[in-house]
Amino acid sequence: MSDERGFVSPEPVETFADAFAALPMGNLLGLAHEGSPGAVDRALGTPPIERTLADFAALVSPAAGERLEDLAEASHELTVARFGRTMHMYAPLYLSNECLTTCVYCGFARELPIARATLTPERTLEEARWLLRQGFRSILLLTGEHERLTGVEFLRERIELLAREVPSIAIEVQVWSEDEYRRLARAGCDAVVVYQETYDPETYGAVHLAGRKRRYLWRLLGPERAARAGMRRVGIGALLGLHHDWRAEALAMATHARFLMTRYWRTQVTVSVPRIRPSASGFQPRDPIDDRSLVQLVCALRLLLPDAGIVLSSREPAALRDGMFRVGITHASAGSHTEPGGYERPHEATEQFEVADLRSPAEVAASLLALGYEPVWEDWAIPSPATEAMLAGLHKDRP
Ligand code: SF4
Repeated sequence: MSDERGFVSPEPVETFADAFAALPMGNLLGLAHEGSPGAVDRALGTPPIERTLADFAALVSPAAGERLEDLAEASHELTVARFGRTMHMYAPLYLSNECLTTCVYCGFARELPIARATLTPERTLEEARWLLRQGFRSILLLTGEHERLTGVEFLRERIELLAREVPSIAIEVQVWSEDEYRRLARAGCDAVVVYQETYDPETYGAVHLAGRKRRYLWRLLGPERAARAGMRRVGIGALLGLHHDWRAEALAMATHARFLMTRYWRTQVTVSVPRIRPSASGFQPRDPIDDRSLVQLVCALRLLLPDAGIVLSSREPAALRDGMFRVGITHASAGSHTEPGGYERPHEATEQFEVADLRSPAEVAASLLALGYEPVWEDWAIPSPATEAMLAGLHKDRP
């Protein structure tokens, strides 16, 4: 069970699915849509550690939207207090756009007549080295869902290959079992990103028409399996615009993040707020979230989750990103290509979606410096055998 503050008691809840089912969603949604100015005042005046999901609901309400400058200031101060003036830089590297699944919003969906490609080991290294030359030390590997072409063994081999040169490797691919995540962690993967896309089961069923991704619950519990497998970081998020009510998605995401942070406290949790972008799918969101609401959502997430990383990709245009960097974002991509092989040989394969911030990594880094932020390219690396041996020696006499 989660208490009124959204903290999770050790028993008897086993998974986030249980905590989510026990959530008083009707009440929280009522607050999220009709929270009063007084509720917003209370939420803003409450110390971060004491904020509840009810406070979060008030912070995403239309009444809080009227106070966006106050939210932004509080979110900025809390972010700087917890993270300093830093931005963790990462880059996506698409290994393949082959996919056997039909997600109606995605440019890689099975039926689409697009140019498909899967990178060979040599081309994978070429792409990674291009990114390393731009300064990146943290790379996010992506594939579609194709069991035969990009299954767990394919990923394990690619991760092992890259881990010799890339300090930090994350994956955003289909979801795996705990044992499979353990295999990938042993190969050198340290982070897993699983966007639920939408937390609303009905909408989920309507936009995932065929393929393995149709299994809502299997996906929902993916981040927990990854955390149990020893991943250093797990990332979650919702693809905003799939479900008509972004506030409902916000409540689900916030609850999910808090569950993971409480239950898997050794694992760093990041939350992402991607919006749907144009792609070969031609999908148009019926109820897109506007820019102000997106900023409000980031502020509310920060005010509820002071220690969560918040990720903003190059889906968003440069001017909006520069503004959002100052109100709560801690992780940013730059210079991204969303097609396999796109860094060395752009446009040979079809991209997953159009990026909006077309600046190079150096240009994004220069903007961050001008805003007073330090781009952090490397903040973690798998320890070398010599470091492991030293640490083992230090700890050998401990009980
Ligand atoms: S979102 Fe992923 S699983 Fe769905 S069609 Fe795109 S690549 Fe395939």
